[in-house]
Amino acid sequence: MSLKVGLLGVGKIARDQHIPALRANRKFELVACASRNATVDGVANYPDLVAMLAGSPQVDCISICTPPTAHFDAAMLALKSGKHVMLEKPPTSTTRQISLLADEAVRRKRTLFQTWHSRFAASVDAARDWLSGRKLVAGRIVWKEDVHHWHPGQQWIFDAGGFGVFDPGINALSVLTEVLTHDVCVQGALLEFPENQQAPIAARVDLRTADGIAIEAEFDFRQKGEQSWDIELATTTGTLGLSNGGATLAIDGRTLASDAGLAGEYPRLYEKFAALCATGKSEVDWRPFQLVADAFLIGERRIVAPHHV
Ligand code: NAP
Repeated sequence: MSLKVGLLGVGKIARDQHIPALRANRKFELVACASRNATVDGVANYPDLVAMLAGSPQVDCISICTPPTAHFDAAMLALKSGKHVMLEKPPTSTTRQISLLADEAVRRKRTLFQTWHSRFAASVDAARDWLSGRKLVAGRIVWKEDVHHWHPGQQWIFDAGGFGVFDPGINALSVLTEVLTHDVCVQGALLEFPENQQAPIAARVDLRTADGIAIEAEFDFRQKGEQSWDIELATTTGTLGLSNGGATLAIDGRTLASDAGLAGEYPRLYEKFAALCATGKSEVDWRPFQLVADAFLIGERRIVAPHHV
C-alpha cells in the first residue's frame, strides 16, 4: 500500500523535484499540498499545514519544502500529529531546533528524514568507497553559482536565518562529511555580507580534520559564466575530484563516472524515505549544519556592495 503524502511549501524545489519524484514512485501518493499562494492540480489544496492536517487526516507523511525558518514549527506539528516527516535542507534555522525534532520523532515513534539531497548525487557513494582507507593530505571546495539564475526573487535567502551563500554551500559540506572518514571542524571564516542584506553572499571557510589536515572552502553567489560545485581531496595515493555537485567522479584527472544531471537525487531520496517509514527509523545528521553555524560564530565579517534579488 502506498504512503499518502502531504507536501508543504509549493515553490521551486517542490515543482522541479519533489512533485515529479513523488508522482513517479508507486510507494507514494501525493494527496494534498499546503501553500499560501500556490496550488497543485489533482490534489487537495490548503493554505497551511493546520488546514491540511484537519482536511486530509488520511495523510501518512508530510514533506516540508518551505525555506528553513518555517521548518521547525511545521515539522514539530507534523510529528505531534503522528505523521512521518521528510525535511528539506538546511534542516532548521537554529541548531537546537533540529535536536528537538529528532527527540520528538523518537518519542512519537515516527520517521524524521532530515535530508541532504547532494549526498544522493550519483558519484558520492563511489567517492566515499575510494577514500576509505586512504590518507588525506589536503582538500578544497569551490562552490560558486549565480544566485540570480538559481534563486530568482528569493529574498528569504538573504534574510536573517536564510543562510545566504550557505544555502547551496551546506550541500558541499553535506557531501564532505559523507565521504570523509575523518571528522572536520571550522578553524576560521570570512563572511561577506551585502550592506543591505542579513546573510552572506560569499564566504571562505577554513576547515581542519581532527588530524590537522586543511580543507579550504570558497562559496560565492556572484559567479557568472561557468558554475562550480567541486570538491577536490588529495591523498597520499591519488587525488579525488567530485564535480557537478557530486555527479561526476575523477581520480587524478581521469573521469570514472559522470551523470548528466542531478535528476536521480530526489527519486533516491524518496526511495530512502519509504524504507525509513517502513521501519519507523529516523535519519538525522546535523554535522554540515554545525559547520555552517560555527562559521557564523567564528567568522570575520566584511561588508560588501549591496545585493538586490
Ligand atoms: P521557494 O521557491 O521560495 O519556495 C518555497 C515556498 O515555501 C514558497 O514558494 C512559499 O510558498 C513557501 N513558504 C512558506 N513559508 C515561507 C516563508 N516564510 N518564506 C518564503 N516562502 C515560504 O524556495 P525553494 O527554492 O523551493 O527552496 C525551499 C527549500 O528547498 C529551501 O530549504 C532550500 O534550501 C531547499 N532546496 C532548494 C533547491 C533549489 O534549487 N531551489 C534545491 C534543493 C533544496 P507560498 O508563498 O505559496 O506559501
